[in-house]
Amino acid sequence: MKNINSYSFEGEKAIVRVDFNVPLSTELKVTDNTRIKGALPTIKKIVNDGGAVILMSHLGRPKKGPEDEFSLKHVIPELERLTGMVVRFAPDCIGDETLEMKKDLKPGEILLLENLRFYKEETKGDEEFASRLAEGCDVYVNDAFGTAHRAHASTTIIARFFPDEKLFGFLINSELENMDKVMHTSEKPFTAIMGGAKVSDKILIIKNLLDRVDNLIIGGGMAYTFIKARGGKIGNSLCEEDKLDVALDIIESAHEKNVEIFLPVDSVVADKFEAEADSRISASDSIDDGWMGLDIGQEAIKEYAGIIKRSKTILWNGPMGVFEMEKFSKGTSEIAKAIADATSSDAFSLIGGGDSVAAINKNKLADKVSYVSTGGGAMLEYMEGKVLPGIAAIRGDS
Ligand code: AMP
Repeated sequence: MKNINSYSFEGEKAIVRVDFNVPLSTELKVTDNTRIKGALPTIKKIVNDGGAVILMSHLGRPKKGPEDEFSLKHVIPELERLTGMVVRFAPDCIGDETLEMKKDLKPGEILLLENLRFYKEETKGDEEFASRLAEGCDVYVNDAFGTAHRAHASTTIIARFFPDEKLFGFLINSELENMDKVMHTSEKPFTAIMGGAKVSDKILIIKNLLDRVDNLIIGGGMAYTFIKARGGKIGNSLCEEDKLDVALDIIESAHEKNVEIFLPVDSVVADKFEAEADSRISASDSIDDGWMGLDIGQEAIKEYAGIIKRSKTILWNGPMGVFEMEKFSKGTSEIAKAIADATSSDAFSLIGGGDSVAAINKNKLADKVSYVSTGGGAMLEYMEGKVLPGIAAIRGDS
């Protein structure tokens, strides 16, 4: 497998799958440039080597073909600002005109193709469409970790047209390196913190983690399914009735594997799912009817922060409560701070999943943790032990 560190792009035209699926304001300006920044090291390497860069990405979920609000042209000003270079734009991602633009591209220049998802063939993984993307290019680079779990034309199928000249960009390389570090060479004690709304989304990753972690901390809405499964009274808290058995299985399996499993001893409960709801503290296993747990309580924060502080490896996925509402955001912020503190005392911390990343950013702690993953779904699937099609297509094991 080729490695971007030692590869020379000199004189080559590189087609690079990036993740420029960035949020746009109503004026169609980029409001968060994290994903564009993530692609910069790869773009710069190709340019500095004397190669030409052809960037392709999706943006949003266009349903009816080309729609102005989903055009990648809105990304150009920010991309030009961050690269300090002129960016050419192909108003179609395939076709004769685009092929001409690829051919005309000189070493050191950047061409951005229009949104891949203006064609349904992209998500269908259409081979003919992938061949049109590949034409006129010498090497394929995949640097879009967020879509690596999808067998789309630009993330997976296109690799067939570059049997030898295919490689990961710097972003995917570091995602894989950091996830592998956590999953395979983690220093002990290893603590995983799982939160978010649903147990059902996290069952597979939890099962895979039970063979690796020392502590499993559970928070967020999913905690109440576990608490009910253990016989607790959870009032109107979120509960997946059909997952009570799975929750019990996980608790038993953790016990057999000597994994300590932690559920929040107390919760901030509210009488409504609303930012201004009445709220109070309750033991998590005796929540009154009419009340619902929307955040972990102070005792739980204290216990969790203590475990995090004593850990050498930390993985966090999913908020501890309804952190979008100020009143129920404390548990998530405090856990974010505890992870940053542990990192400053030499723990390795990996944060993944859109909401925990948002919480880390909201608390301005992105620089104080070891690694923030860019791929929510892709990270979960990798950590579930699944083979990601976009990764396998480059490694050649698919
Ligand atoms: P997920 O996408 O599964 O990681 O879940 C994230 C969502 O879970 C966020 O929008 C949170 O508001 C929500 N959430 C976290 N804790 C709770 C809770 N106790 N009750 C209801 N929703 C919650």
